[in-house]
Amino acid sequence: MASETSSDSPLFSTYARVNLAFERGEGPWLIATDGRRYLDFMGGIAVNVLGHAHPHIVAALKTQAEKLWHVSNIYEIPGQRALGECLAAATFADCVFFGNSGAEAVECAIKTARRYHYSKGAPERVRIITFEGAFHGRTLATIAAGGQPKYLEGFGPPAGGFDQVKLGDEKALKAAIGPETAAIMIEPLQGEGGIVPVPTAELRELRALCDQHGLLLVLDEIQSGMGRTGRFLAHEWAGIEPDIAAVAKGLGAGFPVGVCLATREAASGMIAGTHGSTFGGNPLAMAVAGAVLDVILGDGFLDHVQRTGLLLKQKLAAIVDAHPDLVEVVRGEGLMLGIKCRAPNGDIANAAREEGLLLVAAGDNVVRLLPPLTIGEAEIDEAVERLDKALTAVSQSKAAAS
Ligand SMILES: *Cc1c(COP(=O)(O)O)cnc(C)c1O
Repeated sequence: MASETSSDSPLFSTYARVNLAFERGEGPWLIATDGRRYLDFMGGIAVNVLGHAHPHIVAALKTQAEKLWHVSNIYEIPGQRALGECLAAATFADCVFFGNSGAEAVECAIKTARRYHYSKGAPERVRIITFEGAFHGRTLATIAAGGQPKYLEGFGPPAGGFDQVKLGDEKALKAAIGPETAAIMIEPLQGEGGIVPVPTAELRELRALCDQHGLLLVLDEIQSGMGRTGRFLAHEWAGIEPDIAAVAKGLGAGFPVGVCLATREAASGMIAGTHGSTFGGNPLAMAVAGAVLDVILGDGFLDHVQRTGLLLKQKLAAIVDAHPDLVEVVRGEGLMLGIKCRAPNGDIANAAREEGLLLVAAGDNVVRLLPPLTIGEAEIDEAVERLDKALTAVSQSKAAAS
């Protein structure tokens, strides 16, 4: 299917869109405007953690919509306090700040880390160490944090204060820590970079380095959080705790909401007047996110993610073995999986779509599988079968072309 590049479109040309639109969704299925059914294993890029039209969150949105949508953070918003308490109980955090997106959650994390040192009498500590292959969002500060030239090009001088090192290069990391360093920021499992896990030992080493140098450890769990890896936040697998973390994507399961989580100590510089958001944490967002948490933190839910994730990973490994010319290896955790491809990842995602399976490409020539966390075994079997057919079709078209 061709991308829509029509010059009379009223929209910015920022997206290379697939010429496909959907009318409705049912659990893991998306139904296109032409009636075709697709198995949704991209989930709005790790957003639709409960699939589409999940009755519990639909009900929460409807009920709240009839009461109150928005008031402003000038007033108390009881839903914020309730959701904040729930997030604090489920994580390392003591307190939270709500925004509307992932990038805003990262911006808040960066501001919180810098402001912490400022309030401790070390205003020179502003620099944040980040890692190659990272993705932290598309605002001016977050593209500088991510450091990817393709996102920085043409947008003027990059926001200052970020030092980027190679993932796993301990020597470079230690050399990058200086008297102006405020924090280390990392995704415990890189998403856009190509489902690149950070080894447990490395996360523990980062925690130790932060403690040793008085730095804050900031985790970007926007994609890896909300149960995606089978734990509520992915860093729990490593048995460490950060000082600050950004969570978004799955938090609203499709309703735009993000959050910056922090310990009381790390957030101590964020006093009245230092930060704000017009829409952040409005009653609609709080009602939906609260309902999402009801489900994800419910009995046995994360066990289900671990179990189905393992099952999917095993079945994908068999597919990889069957198509060694096209795909190389499966990696990731829980239901945040990637297949490293030999053929172009875009070709494989396109072929899968032709078979009615939606995947999404990532860096390092990877296709990601980010199904709803509610996915069942029958749908996993169906997806794997469709992927197998898609890979066979790619093989055949390659053979025909040569
Ligand atoms: C998606 C993502 C972001 C940006 O989130 P937006 O809601 O698009 O601003 C930041 N960090 C990570 C790890 C992400 O996956």
